[in-house]
Amino acid sequence: HMKNKGKNGYTFYENKMGKRILENAFMVNQIRKAIEKEQFSLHYQPIIDIESNTIYGAEALIRWFHPERGYIPPMDYIPLIEETGQIFDITSLVLQIGFKQKMIWNEKGYSNLKLSLNISSKSLVNRNINDEIEGLLKRYNIKPNEIILEITETSFMDNIDNSINVLTKLEKSGIGISLDDFGTGYSSLAQLKRLPVHNVKMDREFIRTMKRHSEEEVIVKSIIELAHTLGLKITAEGIETEEQKNILLEGRCDYGQGYYLSKPVEASSFEGILLNYKKVTSYE
Ligand code: C2E
Ligand code: MG
Ligand code: MG
Ligand code: MG
Repeated sequence: HMKNKGKNGYTFYENKMGKRILENAFMVNQIRKAIEKEQFSLHYQPIIDIESNTIYGAEALIRWFHPERGYIPPMDYIPLIEETGQIFDITSLVLQIGFKQKMIWNEKGYSNLKLSLNISSKSLVNRNINDEIEGLLKRYNIKPNEIILEITETSFMDNIDNSINVLTKLEKSGIGISLDDFGTGYSSLAQLKRLPVHNVKMDREFIRTMKRHSEEEVIVKSIIELAHTLGLKITAEGIETEEQKNILLEGRCDYGQGYYLSKPVEASSFEGILLNYKKVTSYE
């Protein structure tokens, strides 16, 4: 009886694994084709300077529109391709598209606009991303302080010393480093002092449930204070209501993003947003 149970358990496990491997292999192939067919693009979401209500920057967010399957969200494939190595190709693609777009904006007079790019930790440590970025800066005539790299804190855990080395080099060259999804990782506070970051992005989850006089209001205001005490700027993501924006303004949060301000849009629509706001925040 025991033997049977064990055997069934094993078979079940094997089938589940087999199914996952098959699905992953399918996805790897799909992504290879999608790169060839140029199905990946970037959308941009404005990052607003909350106090002056001006545009500080644009966060580039990857978009995959599959001809049959429709829109496929990044969370459905980014974690997988971090394992398969295809993340290198995606990171290169994102850097390429993003820097080129930044050049176009610069030519239209928006060189103050900061471009934020999400960079997976795997790309950070396994490849010489410094050289790649340096090459693109030269090629598109962009200054390092016009670019911000967003890194998630959980990603540091794998290879923290190596990550810090790479990030320190990038930061010394003038590139901004922002800690994304801040508050969701377990060792965030302990690690924060070691990381060469100038900005933290408070995770959307903190803002999502924040109403006037809620516990979240107190927590969010404390996180803002904490960031400022550490000498960091702070960005709130996921602002969906005017009330949330007002609470953040009171709490002296530096920057904000969210559907209330604007959804991520394609590059051509982003120019309309730029024209609607008074001016792009100038460097301090
Ligand atoms: P993230 O960097 O934290 O990006 C914020 C996510 O929140 C984006 O989802 C954005 O569309 C969404 N968002 C913005 N405002 C609101 C709002 O008011 N309400 C709600 N509910 N959502 C809002 P998206 O585009 O699906 O991206 C998810 C994650 O995928 C990103 O989280 C980032 O970690 C990753 N990602 C996106 N683009 C790239 C990329 O080019 N490279 C890498 N490595 N990862 C990327
Ligand atoms: Mg981000
Ligand atoms: Mg985030
Ligand atoms: Mg996130």
